[in-house]
Amino acid sequence: MKIYQLPEGEVPKKLKTTKNGLSHPEAERRLKEYGPNKLKEVKKKPIIFNFLENLYNILALILWAASSLAFISGTPQLGIAIIAVIILNAIFSFWQEYEAEKAAEALKSILPSKAKVIRDGEEIEILAENIVPGDLLILEEGDNVPADARLIEAHELKVDNSTLTGESKPVRKVSHPIKKYDNYVETPNLVFAGTSITSGSGKAIVYHTGENTEFSKIAELTQEVKEEPSPLQKQIANVARIIAIIAILMGIILFLVNLYIIKLPPNLAFIFAIGLMVANVPEGLLPTVTLSLATSARKMVKDNALIKRLSSVETLGSTTIICTDKTGTLTRNEMTVRKVWIPYKIIDVTGTGYEPKGEFIWDKKSLTHKDIREIKLLMRAASFCNDAKLIPPDDNSGWQIIGDPTEAALLVAAKKIGFDRDQEMKKIPRITELPFDSKRKMMTSIHQKPHKKVAYVKGAPKRIISLSKWISVDGKPEPLTREKRKEILQIHDEIASQGFRMLAMAYRDLPNQLEDYKPDNIEKDLILVGMTALQDPPRENVKEAVKECQRAGIRIIMITGDYGLTAAAIAKEIGIIPDENYQIIKGKELDKLSDDELKNILKRENNIIFARTVPEHKMRIAKVLEGEEEVVAMTGDGINDAPALKKADIGVAMGSGTDVAKEAADMVLIDDNFATIVKAVKEGRTIYENIRKFITYIFSHETAEIVPFILMVFLGIPLPITVMQILAIDLGTDTLPALALGRSPPEADVMDKPPRPPHERLLNLPIILRGYLFIGIIEAILVMSGYFWVLYNGGWTLGEHLAFTDPLYLKATTMVFAGIVMAQVGNILTCQTTKSSVFEIGLFKNRWIIWGILFELIILFSIVYLPQLQPIFGTAPLGFNEWLYLLSFVPIVFLADELRKAVFRHFRL
Ligand code: ATP
Repeated sequence: MKIYQLPEGEVPKKLKTTKNGLSHPEAERRLKEYGPNKLKEVKKKPIIFNFLENLYNILALILWAASSLAFISGTPQLGIAIIAVIILNAIFSFWQEYEAEKAAEALKSILPSKAKVIRDGEEIEILAENIVPGDLLILEEGDNVPADARLIEAHELKVDNSTLTGESKPVRKVSHPIKKYDNYVETPNLVFAGTSITSGSGKAIVYHTGENTEFSKIAELTQEVKEEPSPLQKQIANVARIIAIIAILMGIILFLVNLYIIKLPPNLAFIFAIGLMVANVPEGLLPTVTLSLATSARKMVKDNALIKRLSSVETLGSTTIICTDKTGTLTRNEMTVRKVWIPYKIIDVTGTGYEPKGEFIWDKKSLTHKDIREIKLLMRAASFCNDAKLIPPDDNSGWQIIGDPTEAALLVAAKKIGFDRDQEMKKIPRITELPFDSKRKMMTSIHQKPHKKVAYVKGAPKRIISLSKWISVDGKPEPLTREKRKEILQIHDEIASQGFRMLAMAYRDLPNQLEDYKPDNIEKDLILVGMTALQDPPRENVKEAVKECQRAGIRIIMITGDYGLTAAAIAKEIGIIPDENYQIIKGKELDKLSDDELKNILKRENNIIFARTVPEHKMRIAKVLEGEEEVVAMTGDGINDAPALKKADIGVAMGSGTDVAKEAADMVLIDDNFATIVKAVKEGRTIYENIRKFITYIFSHETAEIVPFILMVFLGIPLPITVMQILAIDLGTDTLPALALGRSPPEADVMDKPPRPPHERLLNLPIILRGYLFIGIIEAILVMSGYFWVLYNGGWTLGEHLAFTDPLYLKATTMVFAGIVMAQVGNILTCQTTKSSVFEIGLFKNRWIIWGILFELIILFSIVYLPQLQPIFGTAPLGFNEWLYLLSFVPIVFLADELRKAVFRHFRL
């Protein structure tokens, strides 16, 4: 018989396992036999191709053209030098891309997929790759199915099979035997690797793992998905392209001017044109950006924010709205039952819980026997209808919880009053459950008493109360009148508005003939037994993070499934909404609003929170905000949150959330903490600013390299800088300092200004003005002054021709070359900040800057002083006075830009 034809009870035997799962040694043995549960690695494109790609991108093509021209014009040494530059540049770019890719891969491996299995009768969580045939899987809403398996238990189980069938509507799964199927991957009692559980729960025994799974057969086709370049990378590529075109045009113009107006010999005219072109090309810009993004993503992981796509780093920086859940993100999700309500009395829960190894104590002196009896009845429902577990302390740790903290808190309260769920459940075993879902906002567990079945229900009080017909007073049902309902709801609201999370509990004796366990059949005519009030304090740092967002012009909107008054109390406490003048919008009210009305409500001046929502509401809010020029970060953890996470600009999943949510998200919060989102936004803003800083830095030297060519044409002076020297700056001295700038620490005011407009260009006017014009022209003036100073001191007069080998000419060009490098030392120091003074962050706070400058100076001195390099670069040693002169460039450039910043700050420009 085939695996799907067997009755549930025979499946374990067939797969050589038991209802208690495999034993640990057997699982280990099978792991050796069958190998890890992983897909076959797709062979990657040989790495050499990545390297070769760098030899024929647009910038490299310009350099190839330049080198050919150099050969044609009879200067093979220059041609060879440019080829060397292309290759060096390719190696450099390749190395950066490789580093970036490695960083991205490392990020991926941080979130290993896990699976819940039963081994030796115990539920444990293991890495999905350690699953073996015969493993007994526990499947719950939101889980990815890790291997192909046969269901032996299924409660309202539905699966998203779209990875296999393309059909995105969830399909129902069952555990009973099937005679035959139409389509293998649609067999109702089989679940397959690569699919996910959309609702319900179940147990299944694995029969195929790794390469034997159905998914593996199609996965080979889909595994390699190349990451799209981010908008920023595209912008940079665009900038590079535009600059390249300008470079070519300028080269051609210079060539023609030299040839026809100045009447230089064609080969010389060629060389100068090549020089100008090379001077303009920002080699290495793109890979530097990619590496900076990757480095930044790696840094974020240390702060518990796992970035899944590099492009998210920059989007994060422009976030304008954070839509956040409450429970677990803003609050600690460490629940404690503080009060209980039994008909008709509020009782404080006193004593200690399970922390750390302690006993469960409740000071019961003030309680009557009747109180205790009624609390126990309440706790029976609270802990029967409950999937959490309390694990007793061992030598190293205190009590531990498995499962939902809300449910665990109820177990603790039950233990405190002296109700032991596990003992009691032996007498009244569970038949099945109707799992919690965020739409019904309740959960039911059905149990077998000796002569009848009973349903225990817990959930959102308003719902439960509206479904209850009776109220249990001293264990006996009494009609729940309208007045009583009102009275109870008033008490509920009073407690909820203090920030307590409320749950109500009820039960119902079921008619014996009832077999179809559907919510509609079961969750009605209930007997209300009471309510619990749970406290979930806000997380540490959340208040500060909220304040930081407010300073940074980022709006926070709470979208919670919890009750409005509870949510509002917490939101007020952490500062999301003011004490007065706010609006709570319930999910149901939201449904009635048109898009325009919702847009109106979402306006910045309104203080709103959304309560009693379901995940679809998040999607609606994300959609409406999409058209509003907002950049939205949206948190979520459940499977139904996935579409909203995809829709938002930045989907943020919780580390503790479902696999499906994590897959849909752009960022995963390893610690679930709201404050981590804010840290990530700050990092995103910083990296964007840093990229702008190094663009400014690179642009400044270009002006200093271009101006000499212009002066040569207009004044008829000997060319102040040689092509080889330009290459030495662009691809030598300036590379590491530029990279160092990419790692600048955040400026003090990064979170004090509003988010940048989403469509703002990376290369905006202020950058061009500061880099190309302000600093660039200062640098050009300085180096040209040095050039003329050396020439005039050497007895040169304007109009006099100098041979390229003339010692005076060599010294003068060396002055220009060294001058640009020294000016760039001053430039890198000032470029560390955009608006604030560098002294505020510390001149050398970024250690990479020191290494960058050292590197720059070592190359400079090698080129000026090493006899082997002098002829290649056309340099000659400089004297003490010249160095003194050059040294002054550092403070001049630095202070001039600092002064500019001070003036801008003064006039708030
Ligand atoms: P957030 O959406 O901010 O994370 P939340 O966790 O309170 O908030 P849901 O999980 O959708 O949102 O819960 C909504 C409501 O459902 C809760 O306020 C509570 O009344 C009820 N509820 C939550 N968990 C359970 C559970 N395990 N069993 C029964 N009812 C529950």
